[in-house]
Amino acid sequence: MSDAPTNSPPHVLDPLQSQALQGLVSEGSWSLDEEDLGAYGADWTRQHPPRASMVLFPRSTQEVSNVVRYCGEHGIPLVPSGGRTGLSGGAVATSGEVVLSLEKMNHLGEVNTLSNTVRVQAGAVTEQVHQHCEPFGLTWPVDFASKGSSQVGGNIATNAGGVRVIRYGNTRNWVLGLTVVSGAGDILHINGELEKNNSGVDLRQLFIGSEGILGIVTEATLKLAPLPAPQDVMLFGFRDLAGVLSLFREARRSGFLLSAFEFFSDTCMTRVTEHRGLHNPLEPGAGYFALLEIEGASRDDLETWLGKVMDTVPMVDGTLAQTASQGQDLWQLREGISESLSATGTPYKNDISVPVSELEAFSTRMEALLGRDYPDWEMCPFGHIGDGNLHVNVMKPESMSSEVFLEHTHGIEKALFALVKEHRGSVSAEHGIGLLKRRWLGYCRSPEEIALMRGLKRVFDPAGILNPGKVLAPLEPAEAMMAP
Ligand SMILES: Cc1cc2nc3c(=O)[nH]c(=O)nc-3n(C[C@H](O)[C@H](O)[C@H](O)COP(=O)(O)OP(=O)(O)OC[C@H]3O[C@@H](n4cnc5c(N)ncnc54)[C@H](O)[C@@H]3O)c2cc1C
Repeated sequence: MSDAPTNSPPHVLDPLQSQALQGLVSEGSWSLDEEDLGAYGADWTRQHPPRASMVLFPRSTQEVSNVVRYCGEHGIPLVPSGGRTGLSGGAVATSGEVVLSLEKMNHLGEVNTLSNTVRVQAGAVTEQVHQHCEPFGLTWPVDFASKGSSQVGGNIATNAGGVRVIRYGNTRNWVLGLTVVSGAGDILHINGELEKNNSGVDLRQLFIGSEGILGIVTEATLKLAPLPAPQDVMLFGFRDLAGVLSLFREARRSGFLLSAFEFFSDTCMTRVTEHRGLHNPLEPGAGYFALLEIEGASRDDLETWLGKVMDTVPMVDGTLAQTASQGQDLWQLREGISESLSATGTPYKNDISVPVSELEAFSTRMEALLGRDYPDWEMCPFGHIGDGNLHVNVMKPESMSSEVFLEHTHGIEKALFALVKEHRGSVSAEHGIGLLKRRWLGYCRSPEEIALMRGLKRVFDPAGILNPGKVLAPLEPAEAMMAP
């Protein structure tokens, strides 16, 4: 089975095309520098070496449109690029593509406190949007560990999830209007700032989560939420995953407003505490941990409930943060995991989901499967278990070469995704399909759905220049057989 990102030879940008593209953006807003080609041609994944032929930094929607039109006419492949924190290889340029970085389009408009909206350009950094809205008592509730680098355009293109999906839902719930340049170069202003608009197919939702294969988001009107009431953060340790799930059941029944329910394994705890110099505040002996955040509860109610669950749910230990800073310390244990796994080893990442009602059955079978087939491998599962979303990370054994490791991981994926399919789950809960998961798309989407997606791609991107090889790569016969 080929792991090549595309089936066609790398694109070669001829000097005349390069010059023409330089003329389509503001002066100096391009780069052919080797370091830039390497940096802007890559994302957080490191599986495919970057091979971009040029980086463009447009300053306006019109410039984006001019570039896309030119590329369409000359068959030049383009990779839309945000903060490059993606975990599926969606922003990687592997085959001589031109990278279109939105980072110079980062204007933050005025916060409207009547409509609770803000208009921003796609290159605005997620955390800067939060900081911009906070003085008005508002926030854009798209929140995760990479928010200091990820951009609104990337969040929209991936329909990002994160740590508070259980409370707010995914990015798509928090986008009112979009300006998009389609693959044909057309500028589309979609839905303005309308809360209600039942005038036909909602094109906005087609672009959200489409990973840059249909169009390039250049601006968005974001819907804002009031800043949350004070939150209480708790950490619990359990011998097994069943304990985590029992606490989840109790938390759901409690009537409290849950703003996060996250979990991670002891292997994650060890790596994050060692890498970040943090401290595990719980008694030893836990195999799994759950981090729980509850919004706006009275201390009395909370302590009564805690007393009850600590008696009834089998657990090793638990703690309730007494101050905001203690709460942040607990959050660091969870939020530092992704970075710590990459800094202390080579993780093979999986981002799967199953219906919440299937979590218990699925996790039991998953543990048995991984324990049986890979008994000596270090597994580092963590994730947003309250959303049915598990990041199942497999660490490369130190003595094994990267090539052999990658080959082995395909075996793990095949078995894992077959199980995901049985439990009606998804091979990508929130990171997207990009390059890394495209061969497994058939495990969670039907042939009819995939055919419709291909049809949409032809409509919005007739020349096939936007992010070629991502999500809907032309399948080789062997890959086409992958879906069971
Ligand atoms: C430490 C860490 C923690 C993370 N935690 C989470 C998490 O909890 N939840 C979660 O969902 N994700 C998480 N991620 C993944 C990642 O941060 C998100 O997918 C994020 O939304 C990507 O944004 P970005 O700007 O970095 O996009 P990029 O990586 O630059 O691009 C992602 C995709 O979007 C496309 N794209 C980028 N900009 C545009 C645009 N303007 N128009 C059209 N297409 C575009 C790219 O071509 C690519 O396909 C995490 C990543 C890291 C490194």
